[in-house]
Amino acid sequence: PDRSEVAYFGAGPAPLPTPVIEESAKAFVNFDSTGLSLAEISHRSPTANKVLADAKEALTKLYDVPTDEYEIFFMQAGGTGEFSAALQNLVGAFIEKRRRKAVAELGEGKDDQVLERVKKEIESDLKADYLVTGSWSLKASQEATRLIGSKYVNVAIDARKSNNGKFGVIPPESEWKLSPTSALIYYCDNETVDGVEFPSFPESLKTKPGEDDKIVVADFSSNFLSRKINVRDYSVIFGGAQKNLGIAGITVAIVRKTILDLVPPPTFLHQLSSVLPTSGALPPIMFSFSTIASNNSLYNTLPVFNLYVATLVLQSLVSKFGEEKVAGQEEIANTKAKLIYDTLDSYPDVFYVVPDKSVRSRMNICFRIVTGKSDDGVKPDEAREKAFLSGAEKRGLLGLKGHRSVGGIRASNYNAVPLENVQKLANWLTEFANS
Ligand code: PLP
Repeated sequence: PDRSEVAYFGAGPAPLPTPVIEESAKAFVNFDSTGLSLAEISHRSPTANKVLADAKEALTKLYDVPTDEYEIFFMQAGGTGEFSAALQNLVGAFIEKRRRKAVAELGEGKDDQVLERVKKEIESDLKADYLVTGSWSLKASQEATRLIGSKYVNVAIDARKSNNGKFGVIPPESEWKLSPTSALIYYCDNETVDGVEFPSFPESLKTKPGEDDKIVVADFSSNFLSRKINVRDYSVIFGGAQKNLGIAGITVAIVRKTILDLVPPPTFLHQLSSVLPTSGALPPIMFSFSTIASNNSLYNTLPVFNLYVATLVLQSLVSKFGEEKVAGQEEIANTKAKLIYDTLDSYPDVFYVVPDKSVRSRMNICFRIVTGKSDDGVKPDEAREKAFLSGAEKRGLLGLKGHRSVGGIRASNYNAVPLENVQKLANWLTEFANS
Protein backbone atom coordinates (compact mmCIF):
# COMPACT_ATOMS: atom_id res chain seq x y z
CA PRO A 1 0.00 0.00 0.00
CA ASP A 2 0.90 3.64 -0.29
CA ARG A 3 1.96 5.47 2.88
CA SER A 4 -1.29 7.44 2.84
CA GLU A 5 -3.26 4.19 3.12
CA VAL A 6 -1.53 3.06 6.29
CA ALA A 7 -2.20 4.34 9.82
CA TYR A 8 0.73 3.29 11.96
CA PHE A 9 0.52 3.09 15.77
CA GLY A 10 3.86 1.39 16.49
CA ALA A 11 5.47 2.02 19.88
CA GLY A 12 8.95 2.71 18.58
CA PRO A 13 10.43 3.03 16.11
CA ALA A 14 7.40 5.15 15.48
CA PRO A 15 5.85 7.21 12.70
CA LEU A 16 7.58 10.31 11.41
CA PRO A 17 5.84 13.27 9.79
CA THR A 18 5.63 12.52 6.06
CA PRO A 19 7.33 15.80 5.00
CA VAL A 20 10.26 14.92 7.29
CA ILE A 21 10.63 11.54 5.59
CA GLU A 22 10.54 13.12 2.16
CA GLU A 23 13.07 15.81 3.06
CA SER A 24 15.36 13.25 4.77
CA ALA A 25 15.20 10.97 1.74
CA LYS A 26 16.45 13.83 -0.44
CA ALA A 27 19.22 14.60 2.06
CA PHE A 28 20.31 10.98 2.02
CA VAL A 29 20.81 11.12 -1.75
CA ASN A 30 22.12 14.65 -2.29
CA PHE A 31 22.22 17.00 0.65
CA ASP A 32 21.60 20.64 -0.08
CA SER A 33 22.99 20.31 -3.64
CA THR A 34 26.42 19.30 -2.35
CA GLY A 35 26.42 16.20 -4.55
CA LEU A 36 26.93 14.12 -1.41
CA SER A 37 24.65 12.20 0.90
CA LEU A 38 24.42 13.75 4.35
CA ALA A 39 25.49 10.32 5.64
CA GLU A 40 28.80 10.75 3.77
CA ILE A 41 29.66 14.17 5.15
CA SER A 42 32.14 14.62 8.01
CA HIS A 43 30.63 15.18 11.41
CA ARG A 44 33.18 17.96 11.83
CA SER A 45 32.23 19.82 8.65
CA PRO A 46 30.50 23.22 8.73
CA THR A 47 27.47 21.45 7.20
CA ALA A 48 27.20 19.05 10.13
CA ASN A 49 27.78 21.85 12.59
CA LYS A 50 24.89 23.76 11.12
CA VAL A 51 22.58 20.75 11.49
CA LEU A 52 23.65 20.48 15.13
CA ALA A 53 23.27 24.20 15.82
CA ASP A 54 19.82 24.19 14.21
CA ALA A 55 18.72 21.23 16.36
CA LYS A 56 19.88 22.93 19.54
CA GLU A 57 18.27 26.22 18.60
CA ALA A 58 14.90 24.64 17.85
CA LEU A 59 14.92 22.51 21.00
CA THR A 60 15.89 25.52 23.12
CA LYS A 61 12.88 27.37 21.74
CA LEU A 62 10.42 24.52 22.15
CA TYR A 63 11.25 23.72 25.77
CA ASP A 64 12.44 27.22 26.80
CA VAL A 65 15.79 25.70 27.78
CA PRO A 66 17.75 28.19 29.94
CA THR A 67 21.01 27.78 28.03
CA ASP A 68 23.12 29.61 30.59
CA GLU A 69 22.29 26.82 33.05
CA TYR A 70 21.79 23.82 30.78
CA GLU A 71 23.68 22.09 28.01
CA ILE A 72 21.91 20.29 25.20
CA PHE A 73 23.83 17.49 23.55
CA PHE A 74 23.32 14.46 21.34
CA MET A 75 24.93 11.07 21.60
CA GLN A 76 24.49 7.47 20.44
CA ALA A 77 23.57 5.85 23.72
CA GLY A 78 19.88 5.10 23.16
CA GLY A 79 17.58 5.11 26.16
CA THR A 80 19.35 2.05 27.51
CA GLY A 81 22.78 3.66 27.25
CA GLU A 82 21.42 6.57 29.26
CA PHE A 83 20.35 4.24 32.08
CA SER A 84 24.04 3.55 32.62
CA ALA A 85 25.41 6.94 31.62
CA ALA A 86 23.11 9.00 33.85
CA LEU A 87 23.90 6.82 36.84
CA GLN A 88 27.66 6.77 36.30
CA ASN A 89 27.90 10.50 35.69
CA LEU A 90 25.79 11.38 38.72
CA VAL A 91 27.44 8.95 41.09
CA GLY A 92 30.69 10.49 39.84
CA ALA A 93 29.34 13.97 40.59
CA PHE A 94 28.29 12.87 44.08
CA ILE A 95 31.80 11.59 44.79
CA GLU A 96 33.51 14.63 43.34
CA LYS A 97 31.39 16.96 45.48
CA ARG A 98 32.34 15.01 48.59
CA ARG A 99 35.98 14.86 47.53
CA ARG A 100 36.19 18.61 47.02
CA LYS A 101 34.51 19.25 50.35
CA ALA A 102 36.99 16.94 52.09
CA VAL A 103 39.93 18.67 50.39
CA ALA A 104 38.58 22.07 51.39
CA GLU A 105 38.14 21.01 55.00
CA LEU A 106 41.23 18.86 55.47
CA GLY A 107 43.58 20.89 53.31
CA GLU A 108 45.71 20.08 50.26
CA GLY A 109 48.17 17.19 50.49
CA LYS A 110 46.03 15.09 52.83
CA ASP A 111 45.23 12.54 50.17
CA ASP A 112 44.95 9.56 52.48
CA GLN A 113 42.58 11.30 54.86
CA VAL A 114 40.49 12.62 51.99
CA LEU A 115 40.24 9.13 50.56
CA GLU A 116 39.23 7.59 53.88
CA ARG A 117 36.61 10.24 54.52
CA VAL A 118 35.06 9.91 51.07
CA LYS A 119 35.00 6.12 51.41
CA LYS A 120 33.11 6.42 54.66
CA GLU A 121 30.68 8.92 53.21
CA ILE A 122 30.00 6.68 50.24
CA GLU A 123 29.17 3.82 52.58
CA SER A 124 26.88 5.94 54.74
CA ASP A 125 25.33 8.38 52.26
CA LEU A 126 25.47 7.16 48.65
CA LYS A 127 22.07 6.22 47.28
CA ALA A 128 20.61 6.13 43.80
CA ASP A 129 16.85 6.48 44.20
CA TYR A 130 14.55 4.87 41.63
CA LEU A 131 10.82 5.29 41.20
CA VAL A 132 9.85 2.01 39.60
CA THR A 133 6.55 2.63 37.82
CA GLY A 134 6.93 0.42 34.76
CA SER A 135 9.17 -1.82 32.71
CA TRP A 136 11.66 0.87 31.69
CA SER A 137 12.30 2.36 35.12
CA LEU A 138 12.60 -1.22 36.35
CA LYS A 139 15.30 -1.88 33.74
CA ALA A 140 17.08 1.33 34.69
CA SER A 141 17.09 0.32 38.37
CA GLN A 142 18.39 -3.13 37.47
CA GLU A 143 21.22 -1.54 35.52
CA ALA A 144 22.04 0.62 38.54
CA THR A 145 22.21 -2.50 40.70
CA ARG A 146 24.50 -4.14 38.17
CA LEU A 147 26.84 -1.15 38.12
CA ILE A 148 26.99 -0.05 41.77
CA GLY A 149 25.52 -2.97 43.71
CA SER A 150 22.16 -3.29 45.43
CA LYS A 151 23.48 -1.72 48.63
CA TYR A 152 23.53 1.70 46.98
CA VAL A 153 20.28 1.41 45.03
CA ASN A 154 17.10 2.49 46.76
CA VAL A 155 13.85 1.55 45.08
CA ALA A 156 11.86 4.45 46.51
CA ILE A 157 8.66 2.96 45.19
CA ASP A 158 7.77 -0.21 43.30
CA ALA A 159 4.35 0.43 41.83
CA ARG A 160 3.65 -3.29 41.39
CA LYS A 161 3.48 -3.74 45.14
CA SER A 162 0.30 -1.71 45.39
CA ASN A 163 -1.31 -3.24 42.30
CA ASN A 164 -1.33 -7.05 42.59
CA GLY A 165 2.18 -7.39 41.18
CA LYS A 166 1.42 -5.47 37.99
CA PHE A 167 2.33 -2.03 36.75
CA GLY A 168 -0.53 0.38 36.15
CA VAL A 169 -0.59 2.79 39.08
CA ILE A 170 1.66 5.45 40.60
CA PRO A 171 1.39 5.13 44.38
CA PRO A 172 0.81 8.37 46.32
CA GLU A 173 3.88 10.44 47.00
CA SER A 174 3.43 9.99 50.75
CA GLU A 175 4.51 6.36 50.22
CA TRP A 176 7.72 7.16 48.35
CA LYS A 177 10.84 6.42 50.40
CA LEU A 178 13.35 8.92 49.04
CA SER A 179 16.83 8.98 50.56
CA PRO A 180 18.01 12.14 52.30
CA THR A 181 21.32 12.20 50.42
CA SER A 182 20.55 10.75 47.01
CA ALA A 183 23.07 11.12 44.21
CA LEU A 184 20.11 11.01 41.84
CA ILE A 185 16.38 10.43 41.82
CA TYR A 186 15.47 8.57 38.68
CA TYR A 187 12.08 8.22 37.09
CA CYS A 188 10.55 7.50 33.70
CA ASP A 189 7.99 10.16 32.75
CA ASN A 190 6.16 7.84 30.38
CA GLU A 191 6.31 4.06 30.59
CA THR A 192 6.03 2.89 26.99
CA VAL A 193 5.29 -0.76 27.71
CA ASP A 194 2.77 -0.28 30.50
CA GLY A 195 1.00 2.88 29.35
CA VAL A 196 1.66 4.77 32.58
CA GLU A 197 2.52 8.47 32.46
CA PHE A 198 3.19 10.88 35.30
CA PRO A 199 0.32 13.38 35.15
CA SER A 200 2.67 16.21 36.16
CA PHE A 201 6.02 16.80 37.81
CA PRO A 202 5.87 15.21 41.29
CA GLU A 203 5.72 17.68 44.14
CA SER A 204 8.15 15.69 46.29
CA LEU A 205 10.88 15.89 43.64
CA LYS A 206 10.89 19.68 43.82
CA THR A 207 13.69 21.25 45.81
CA LYS A 208 12.21 23.22 48.69
CA PRO A 209 13.88 26.43 49.90
CA GLY A 210 16.83 25.66 52.17
CA GLU A 211 17.14 22.04 50.98
CA ASP A 212 20.05 20.56 49.07
CA ASP A 213 19.25 20.40 45.36
CA LYS A 214 17.25 17.33 44.39
CA ILE A 215 19.04 15.75 41.46
CA VAL A 216 16.27 14.50 39.24
CA VAL A 217 16.91 12.36 36.16
CA ALA A 218 14.00 11.71 33.85
CA ASP A 219 13.61 9.35 30.92
CA PHE A 220 11.47 11.17 28.36
CA SER A 221 12.12 8.69 25.53
CA SER A 222 8.46 8.14 24.75
CA ASN A 223 6.83 11.47 25.56
CA PHE A 224 9.53 13.94 24.59
CA LEU A 225 8.06 17.20 23.27
CA SER A 226 4.50 16.16 24.00
CA ARG A 227 3.85 18.63 26.79
CA LYS A 228 5.27 21.65 28.53
CA ILE A 229 7.90 21.00 31.18
CA ASN A 230 9.97 23.21 33.41
CA VAL A 231 13.53 22.25 32.49
CA ARG A 232 14.79 23.69 35.81
CA ASP A 233 13.01 20.87 37.68
CA TYR A 234 15.56 18.43 36.28
CA SER A 235 19.26 17.77 36.38
CA VAL A 236 19.16 15.36 33.45
CA ILE A 237 16.47 14.92 30.83
CA PHE A 238 17.14 12.30 28.21
CA GLY A 239 15.37 10.44 25.45
CA GLY A 240 16.07 8.09 22.58
CA ALA A 241 14.96 9.78 19.37
CA GLN A 242 12.92 6.99 17.80
CA LYS A 243 9.52 8.00 19.15
CA ASN A 244 8.75 11.71 19.12
CA LEU A 245 12.06 13.08 17.93
CA GLY A 246 13.34 11.13 14.95
CA ILE A 247 14.93 7.80 14.22
CA ALA A 248 16.98 5.33 16.24
CA GLY A 249 20.68 5.98 16.52
CA ILE A 250 20.61 9.27 18.33
CA THR A 251 19.79 10.28 21.88
CA VAL A 252 19.16 13.73 23.24
CA ALA A 253 20.23 14.96 26.67
CA ILE A 254 19.57 18.23 28.47
CA VAL A 255 21.91 18.45 31.43
CA ARG A 256 22.45 21.03 34.17
CA LYS A 257 25.85 22.62 33.74
CA THR A 258 26.82 22.39 37.41
CA ILE A 259 26.87 18.61 37.04
CA LEU A 260 29.18 18.75 34.05
CA ASP A 261 31.77 20.43 36.20
CA LEU A 262 31.78 17.64 38.81
CA VAL A 263 34.04 14.99 37.32
CA PRO A 264 36.23 13.06 39.77
CA PRO A 265 39.82 12.26 38.80
CA PRO A 266 39.90 8.63 37.52
CA THR A 267 42.87 7.84 39.79
CA PHE A 268 40.78 8.83 42.80
CA LEU A 269 37.95 6.55 41.64
CA HIS A 270 40.38 3.67 41.18
CA GLN A 271 41.27 3.93 44.86
CA LEU A 272 37.66 3.59 45.95
CA SER A 273 37.25 0.07 44.65
CA SER A 274 36.99 -1.46 48.14
CA VAL A 275 33.70 0.39 48.67
CA LEU A 276 32.36 1.02 45.16
CA PRO A 277 33.02 -0.68 41.81
CA THR A 278 34.97 1.78 39.68
CA SER A 279 32.49 1.25 36.84
CA GLY A 280 29.82 2.76 39.08
CA ALA A 281 31.21 6.24 38.69
CA LEU A 282 33.55 6.13 35.70
CA PRO A 283 31.64 6.00 32.43
CA PRO A 284 33.26 4.91 29.18
CA ILE A 285 34.56 8.14 27.68
CA MET A 286 31.80 8.34 25.05
CA PHE A 287 29.24 8.23 27.87
CA SER A 288 30.91 10.99 29.87
CA PHE A 289 28.44 13.89 29.85
CA SER A 290 31.18 16.36 30.56
CA THR A 291 33.32 15.12 27.65
CA ILE A 292 30.42 15.12 25.21
CA ALA A 293 29.23 18.56 26.26
CA SER A 294 32.66 20.17 26.18
CA ASN A 295 33.17 18.79 22.68
CA ASN A 296 29.80 20.06 21.44
CA SER A 297 28.50 16.50 20.91
CA LEU A 298 31.44 15.76 18.61
CA TYR A 299 33.88 13.86 20.81
CA ASN A 300 33.29 10.84 18.62
CA THR A 301 31.39 10.40 15.34
CA LEU A 302 27.91 11.76 15.67
CA PRO A 303 25.39 10.12 13.30
CA VAL A 304 24.68 13.33 11.45
CA PHE A 305 22.00 11.95 9.17
CA ASN A 306 20.04 10.70 12.19
CA LEU A 307 20.52 14.06 13.83
CA TYR A 308 19.22 15.77 10.69
CA VAL A 309 15.96 13.85 10.90
CA ALA A 310 15.57 15.10 14.49
CA THR A 311 16.45 18.63 13.38
CA LEU A 312 13.68 18.54 10.79
CA VAL A 313 11.18 17.28 13.37
CA LEU A 314 12.21 20.03 15.81
CA GLN A 315 12.06 22.74 13.18
CA SER A 316 8.67 21.57 11.97
CA LEU A 317 7.31 21.89 15.53
CA VAL A 318 8.79 25.36 15.85
CA SER A 319 7.20 26.52 12.63
CA LYS A 320 3.89 24.81 13.35
CA PHE A 321 3.42 26.10 16.90
CA GLY A 322 5.41 29.33 16.99
CA GLU A 323 4.98 31.12 20.30
CA GLU A 324 2.76 28.33 21.65
CA LYS A 325 5.83 26.06 21.56
CA VAL A 326 5.33 22.61 23.07
CA ALA A 327 2.01 23.67 24.60
CA GLY A 328 0.58 23.58 21.07
CA GLN A 329 1.67 19.98 20.61
CA GLU A 330 0.40 19.14 24.09
CA GLU A 331 -3.10 20.25 23.20
CA ILE A 332 -3.15 18.05 20.10
CA ALA A 333 -1.72 15.06 21.99
CA ASN A 334 -4.40 15.45 24.66
CA THR A 335 -7.19 15.72 22.10
CA LYS A 336 -6.06 12.58 20.26
CA ALA A 337 -5.60 10.57 23.47
CA LYS A 338 -9.01 11.66 24.73
CA LEU A 339 -10.65 10.51 21.53
CA ILE A 340 -9.28 6.99 21.99
CA TYR A 341 -9.85 6.75 25.74
CA ASP A 342 -13.40 8.10 25.45
CA THR A 343 -14.18 5.48 22.83
CA LEU A 344 -12.71 2.71 24.99
CA ASP A 345 -14.60 3.94 28.05
CA SER A 346 -17.87 3.89 26.12
CA TYR A 347 -17.71 0.08 25.93
CA PRO A 348 -16.65 -1.15 29.38
CA ASP A 349 -17.91 -4.67 28.63
CA VAL A 350 -15.60 -4.94 25.65
CA PHE A 351 -12.53 -2.84 26.45
CA TYR A 352 -10.52 -2.63 29.65
CA VAL A 353 -7.89 0.09 29.89
CA VAL A 354 -4.97 -1.43 31.80
CA PRO A 355 -3.51 1.50 33.79
CA ASP A 356 -5.45 3.43 36.39
CA LYS A 357 -7.37 6.40 35.02
CA SER A 358 -5.20 8.89 36.97
CA VAL A 359 -1.99 7.81 35.22
CA ARG A 360 -3.12 6.91 31.72
CA SER A 361 -0.45 7.66 29.16
CA ARG A 362 -1.34 10.05 26.38
CA MET A 363 1.31 8.38 24.22
CA ASN A 364 0.85 4.62 24.72
CA ILE A 365 -2.73 3.52 25.18
CA CYS A 366 -2.74 0.00 26.59
CA PHE A 367 -5.96 -1.95 26.77
CA ARG A 368 -7.41 -5.44 26.73
CA ILE A 369 -10.43 -6.91 25.05
CA VAL A 370 -12.47 -8.70 27.68
CA THR A 371 -15.42 -11.02 27.93
CA GLY A 372 -17.21 -10.02 31.09
CA LYS A 373 -15.42 -9.58 34.38
CA SER A 374 -14.25 -12.63 36.26
CA ASP A 375 -14.27 -12.79 40.08
CA ASP A 376 -10.53 -12.20 40.34
CA GLY A 377 -10.49 -9.22 38.01
CA VAL A 378 -10.42 -8.68 34.29
CA LYS A 379 -10.44 -11.63 31.93
CA PRO A 380 -8.73 -10.84 28.64
CA ASP A 381 -10.05 -12.66 25.61
CA GLU A 382 -7.00 -13.39 23.50
CA ALA A 383 -9.00 -14.82 20.61
CA ARG A 384 -11.01 -11.60 20.33
CA GLU A 385 -7.81 -9.57 20.62
CA LYS A 386 -6.44 -11.49 17.64
CA ALA A 387 -9.64 -10.81 15.73
CA PHE A 388 -9.41 -7.12 16.65
CA LEU A 389 -5.84 -6.95 15.38
CA SER A 390 -6.54 -8.74 12.13
CA GLY A 391 -9.59 -6.55 11.51
CA ALA A 392 -7.40 -3.52 12.20
CA GLU A 393 -4.80 -4.72 9.72
CA LYS A 394 -7.43 -5.11 7.01
CA ARG A 395 -8.32 -1.46 7.57
CA GLY A 396 -4.68 -0.37 7.33
CA LEU A 397 -4.37 0.20 11.10
CA LEU A 398 -0.95 -1.23 11.97
CA GLY A 399 1.41 -1.64 14.91
CA LEU A 400 -1.32 -2.18 17.52
CA LYS A 401 -0.11 -5.35 19.18
CA GLY A 402 0.80 -4.90 22.86
CA HIS A 403 4.37 -5.39 24.07
CA ARG A 404 5.32 -9.08 24.17
CA SER A 405 5.82 -8.94 27.93
CA VAL A 406 2.29 -7.76 28.71
CA GLY A 407 0.15 -8.77 25.70
CA GLY A 408 -3.10 -7.04 24.81
CA ILE A 409 -3.36 -4.02 22.56
CA ARG A 410 -1.26 -0.87 22.56
CA ALA A 411 -2.09 2.13 20.42
CA SER A 412 0.80 4.55 20.39
CA ASN A 413 -0.28 8.11 19.88
CA TYR A 414 3.01 9.86 19.20
CA ASN A 415 3.25 13.39 17.89
CA ALA A 416 3.47 12.34 14.25
CA VAL A 417 0.27 10.28 14.37
CA PRO A 418 -2.31 12.46 12.59
CA LEU A 419 -5.73 13.10 14.12
CA GLU A 420 -7.37 11.49 11.10
CA ASN A 421 -5.55 8.22 11.84
CA VAL A 422 -6.70 8.37 15.45
CA GLN A 423 -10.22 8.93 14.16
CA LYS A 424 -9.89 5.84 11.95
CA LEU A 425 -8.84 3.83 14.98
CA ALA A 426 -11.74 5.18 17.05
CA ASN A 427 -14.10 4.19 14.23
CA TRP A 428 -12.72 0.64 14.21
CA LEU A 429 -13.00 0.42 18.02
CA THR A 430 -16.64 1.44 17.78
CA GLU A 431 -17.38 -0.93 14.93
CA PHE A 432 -15.68 -3.80 16.76
CA ALA A 433 -17.48 -3.10 20.03
CA ASN A 434 -20.81 -3.12 18.25
CA SER A 435 -20.12 -6.28 16.23
N1 PLP B 1 13.13 4.23 27.88
C1 PLP B 1 11.89 4.20 27.35
C2 PLP B 1 10.80 4.95 28.03
C3 PLP B 1 11.66 3.48 26.18
O1 PLP B 1 10.44 3.45 25.65
C4 PLP B 1 12.73 2.78 25.57
C5 PLP B 1 12.54 2.01 24.32
O2 PLP B 1 11.49 1.72 23.88
C6 PLP B 1 13.98 2.83 26.17
C7 PLP B 1 14.15 3.57 27.32
C8 PLP B 1 15.15 2.09 25.58
O3 PLP B 1 15.56 2.75 24.45
P1 PLP B 1 16.67 2.18 23.46
O4 PLP B 1 16.06 1.00 22.78
O5 PLP B 1 16.92 3.36 22.55
O6 PLP B 1 17.85 1.82 24.26
